[in-house]
Amino acid sequence: MNQTMTRTRQATPERWASALDRALHGGVEILTTRDGARFATSTSQLDLLYRVTETTCECAAGLAGDPVCCHRAALRDILGTLPVMTLRIDEFIPADAPKCSWCFGKGERWAGSVDDERNPQRFITCPECQGTGANLDAIIRVAA
Ligand SMILES: [Zn+2]
Ligand SMILES: [Zn+2]
Repeated sequence: MNQTMTRTRQATPERWASALDRALHGGVEILTTRDGARFATSTSQLDLLYRVTETTCECAAGLAGDPVCCHRAALRDILGTLPVMTLRIDEFIPADAPKCSWCFGKGERWAGSVDDERNPQRFITCPECQGTGANLDAIIRVAA
């Protein structure tokens, strides 16, 4: 945890992804007034709202200068401006990444029983690692 305190906080796709995860688990809601002002509900305090835009937020992380927080992630998710899905997942995977435990790092796995004995090549792209062969859960946890 000390490591994350000393690291410069940056707006990386990994951090946006984990911020959105926190927003979804924390039940963050985005409220919009008729004149277009937007507010996000706090994950920790029931009666607190933060004024939020795509780039600013009144929460502690936002006030501390962090470009990423769960409130902005929730807003960007609604607006469709999260940078997460536009990049190829394998660009984030380091060479020494932990291997996917479902396909043992092969990126594909046996699809089950063979109906047609003349066509035994029933491998499918591994859905757990999206064919990358890496343990994506572990990587996202490290990046967050
Ligand atoms: Zn925030
Ligand atoms: Zn896999």
